[in-house]
Amino acid sequence: MKTKTGLSTQCVHSGEFHGSEGSPHTPIFNSTTFQFSSTKALLDVVEGRKQGNLYTRYGMNPTIRSLETKLAEIEKAESAMAFCSGMAAESAFILAHCRKGILCIGDAYGGTMEFLGQQLKSLNIPAFFLLNTEIDKLPSLLSRKIDVVFFETPTNPKLEIFDIKAISKIAHKHRAVVCVDNTFATPVNQNPLLLGADVVVHSATKYLGGHSDITAGALMGSKKILEPVLSWRKNLGQMIAPEVASLLMRSIRSLSLRVNRQNESALKIAEWLNKHPKIKIVYYPGLPNYPYHKLARKQMAGFGGMLTIEVNKDAKSTVKFVDRLKLFKIAPSLGGPESLVTQPVTTTHHGLSARELKRRGITGSMVRFSIGFEDTKDLIADLEQALSKI
Ligand code: PLP
Repeated sequence: MKTKTGLSTQCVHSGEFHGSEGSPHTPIFNSTTFQFSSTKALLDVVEGRKQGNLYTRYGMNPTIRSLETKLAEIEKAESAMAFCSGMAAESAFILAHCRKGILCIGDAYGGTMEFLGQQLKSLNIPAFFLLNTEIDKLPSLLSRKIDVVFFETPTNPKLEIFDIKAISKIAHKHRAVVCVDNTFATPVNQNPLLLGADVVVHSATKYLGGHSDITAGALMGSKKILEPVLSWRKNLGQMIAPEVASLLMRSIRSLSLRVNRQNESALKIAEWLNKHPKIKIVYYPGLPNYPYHKLARKQMAGFGGMLTIEVNKDAKSTVKFVDRLKLFKIAPSLGGPESLVTQPVTTTHHGLSARELKRRGITGSMVRFSIGFEDTKDLIADLEQALSKI
């Protein structure tokens, strides 16, 4: 479907393969291998003269192919690759493209930091880390040997926003490829490829999966940029299972409904928290007093379902507040139907030294929420009762 349909239509229809039985959506082909009518027919596929199904770990499976067409279209990409996790997608991309060095801008998911700081380092590929407050050093850092620039926007946990267009422009001048982790924003709120990024990575475990019941990942970009990643995915065995691919397609059909609802609810909750006397700071890109609001308005269509606060109390009282919440469940993930609460110091940033936490402005009074599908008034009532106890 190459017409310029809207995102909701693409979420429902893109990539769907109806099979011969009239199924309205792609059936699950759980076969690990596919049979051929002759050796010639097999060789035509093996040697690339014809597109066909061959072996599921290679991605040559109709269910996985359908999913990848849908993933590409929703991120406005020429092509996409599905993976068994977000980290699988991210690591395969970096291993395929990074030879000289990688620059990670801003806060990133803990697993990403560990991969860059430990596994990549063990291959003698250096990783450089630049905070938002140090962004003026970007051109001088890029003049070092860097071939990949990686960042999340909005970031975890402070929902900082990076200017995708401006960073891509500078990175391209230095011949570096730009990879944006669009997990928090989703294609409903932001399309990094349209803003100049070269590749998008998703932990599809989060909003794309949307139900806290699958682990998956995705890369979206041009055929040229994804082509070198194919053999890494194949030989590291990072393929998504057909059953999970089918569940992910099921979930993407409702992506824009879910995310728009989460945007709406998170904004209302952020506005309510912003006026609460026991809250010191609300980190939410949709609030006009948030320092990155103007930039967020420029590059985002909505502000997302994630929000972080700093309570006007010490770390001990903050734990008490978290433990008193009833509807919000204490868990580190995000993007599902149930609202979740987590403290960066106990999960995503657990293990960072006191000095590093200070440098990143992450405190024991900081609490992160993933807003789910519950009634907004019920979530506010839950926050109110827990805040009243501290
Ligand atoms: N990127 C972000 C922003 C994440 O939050 C996560 C996981 O929490 C990942 C990547 C890694 O994804 P996965 O857990 O699917 O491997």
